[in-house]
This record gives sequence, C-alpha cells and structure tokens, in this order.
Amino acid sequence: MNLEETFKEANTILDTLQKNGFEAYYVGGSVRDYLMDVNIGDIDITTNALPEDIQNIFPRTIDVGVEHGTVIVVINKTPFEVTTYRTETTYSDYRRPDSVSFTTSIKEDLARRDFTMNAVAMDRMFKIYDPYNGQLSIKNKEIITVGDPYERFNEDALRMLRAIRFVSQLDFKLNESTFNGIVKLASNVQYISVERIVQELKKLYSGVNVSHAKSLLIHSEILKFIPYYKKLNIEDIKKTNVHSLINEIIIQQILNENNHFKNELKLSNDEKNNIKNSLSFYNDLGENESPIILAYNYNEHIILNLKDIISENNFLNQQYLNQIDDILLEKSSLTIKSKKDLAVNGNDLMKTLNRHGGPWLKEILSEIEKNVLFNKLENNYETIIEWVNDEY
Ligand code: ATP
Ligand code: MG
Repeated sequence: MNLEETFKEANTILDTLQKNGFEAYYVGGSVRDYLMDVNIGDIDITTNALPEDIQNIFPRTIDVGVEHGTVIVVINKTPFEVTTYRTETTYSDYRRPDSVSFTTSIKEDLARRDFTMNAVAMDRMFKIYDPYNGQLSIKNKEIITVGDPYERFNEDALRMLRAIRFVSQLDFKLNESTFNGIVKLASNVQYISVERIVQELKKLYSGVNVSHAKSLLIHSEILKFIPYYKKLNIEDIKKTNVHSLINEIIIQQILNENNHFKNELKLSNDEKNNIKNSLSFYNDLGENESPIILAYNYNEHIILNLKDIISENNFLNQQYLNQIDDILLEKSSLTIKSKKDLAVNGNDLMKTLNRHGGPWLKEILSEIEKNVLFNKLENNYETIIEWVNDEY
C-alpha cells in the first residue's frame, strides 16, 4: 500500500499541528486498517491541541461537537475528524459520559477507546505507539476491550454492538471475557437509541462474516433487547443468509406472515416501501399472476433483489426463480412502463365520450392499460380513441 499517497492530505494536518507545538497522531480505524493492510476508510486524528487551537490554526474547519473535543478540518475538500485527547469520566445513562475532560496524555486518550485494535496511535513518520497491545490483537484477529469488559460496556452499551459488528466487518473473533461482559450487560442495549442500533446492524450485515455475528447476537441474548428482533423466532434468524438489514426484515416477514411490520427500527420511507413492495411481489408470485402484469407492477430492483434472496435461501419457494426469470424477460419488452406512457389521458377520454370525470375514467383507463400491455391494442392515439368509441 502506498502510505505516502493515502495519508498525504492528512499528513499536512499532523505537520501543521506539530509546527504549532502540538502532538498529533492517527488513531482508530485508519491505523487498524493500515496494520491489516486493507483499504483505509476515514482517517481520524487525535491531538493535545484544544478545539479552539485547532480552529485558530486551520483556515477551514467545521464545528461538529467542540464540547466533545471534535473539529473537522477540511484539506482540499477532504474532511478529517480531529479530536482533542480526552478521558471520559462517569457515565450514568449507559450511553454517553456525563462530562468530557481533556487530557494532555495520548496514553490516557487511548485508554478510553473501545477495543485494543482501535487504540493504536501512529505518528506522521508512521511510527506506532501501542500501549495496550492492539497490534497483537490485530495479528490474532481478536476483539478485546481496553480494560475490564464489564466496566467498559457498563459505561457505554453501544460498544457491545460495535464489538459484534466488528466481528462481521473484520472477520475477527471475540475474546472470551469480552464476550462474557456482553452476556452480563446485554440488557443495557435497551438504553441505546434505535438509530444508533440500526447504524450498527447495517454495518454488521454488510460485513464478511454475518453468520458469526448473528450467532453472537443470539448467544449473548442481546437480541432480546433490540427492537423488532426481540419478537422474532431465533431459529428463523439463524437460518437466513442475507447481506443487508432490509433483506433480513423481508425474509423474516415472509416467514412470519402474521407479524405486522410496525417499523420499530425507524427505517426511512424508501426502506419501508422497499420492504412492502418486496413482500407484495413475493405474495403475487404465489398467486399465479401473469408475468406481464408483475413485470409492469414491480421495478427491476425489487425483482432482482428478491431473486437474490430466494436463491440464497433454499427454504423459500425455489420454483419462484423460474417465474422471476420469465418476469425479467417480459420486463425488457413491455409496451409501456407506466400509465404515463399511454397515448391517451383522462382529458382525451372525457372529450371523446363527452362526459364529466368520475370513477368510470379510471376503469376505462385500466382497461386500455391492460389491453396495451397484452398487445391487444396498439398504443397509438387514433387506435385507442377508435376502440373507446366502439366499446363505450
Ligand atoms: P470504521 O470507521 O471502520 O467503522 P472505526 O474504528 O474508525 O471503524 P469509528 O466509529 O470511526 O470506528 O470511531 C473511531 C474511533 O473512535 C474508534 O476506532 C475508537 O477508537 C473510538 N470509538 C468510537 N466509538 C467508540 C465508543 N463507543 N467507545 C469508545 N471508543 C469509541
Ligand atoms: Mg472510522
């Protein structure tokens, strides 16, 4: 990996901070990724400069949480999070520290980080500072809390979900006592906001070892405290093979038809519609609907996604796969893609038949739509008007 290139812009931040008399290090995921020799995601920087120092030194900064010590520094349009060394004091809500105190010691800053693999610092010459043996845990592919797991998870319950998400993302194992800490404190997950839970679940499902992470969610019983999941059947969760949270929900809803989907996970409208349409498509497949109608009613993304879901989960009806192939074939030769593509509209019909609008309009339009779709009527203004005059 070309280090100089990857860290080029970020290095100017470390340089500048040092020239101004401060210490600065890379920390977190970027150092972990570098040590694992995989592509580096976002680069986080930690420094003993205070937020106001950082804002004074750099011409372009964005205030994202100065009270927590974080400032975004923008270099050539790339944003970098620069965070002041800090320690976290008491926690009373299992979510965030009651107060943040800055410290002048990098070692103390690293001590408040969640896992040893995330608590390795690297300076601008790419020299590593690793007081908690993070490199060893990366080498052993093991996730271990910095310090006592019970204490660390008791401070911040989100860390338990982060641990399990990293199992999937990095394909690491969970250290035994770290896992036992999760078992003891699983119920604290109920205090975490659903948005943050969902964020972690999405990362979990996009990881490379989803099944290991799912088995940890199950065995630690943390699942019992996650909205929506708590009402599912464990066997059903175990048996699915999916790579996104949305697809997991789609399958779970297929398996539990009576389980009314109440959006406990606060998903976006797009996501909700995606789930709704996928379920309706799956149902229609069982109803022997004509492939032309299904091709017309569902967009390609929904069809292809459901095809993946079915082919990767053999407990679902595999005969639907042939049906889906027929539907996809029809999709490419549909005469119209939506009502808007019809050569006539409601106004044309009202004029032709000299009638005021009303429910009859929708009926005739649907009839025209169907005939055009099945190639019984050419989608051409004169032809359709002539047909309407004959029929009505
Ligand atoms: P990635 O960006 O690949 O998801 P990351 O390790 O960089 O992984 P971030 O959420 O970007 O994760 O956090 C950056 C760093 O901040 C972490 O590596 C860790 O050192 C620290 N950190 C983040 N969240 C917590 C937390 N809840 N408790 C303690 N430390 C945390
Ligand atoms: Mg990161």
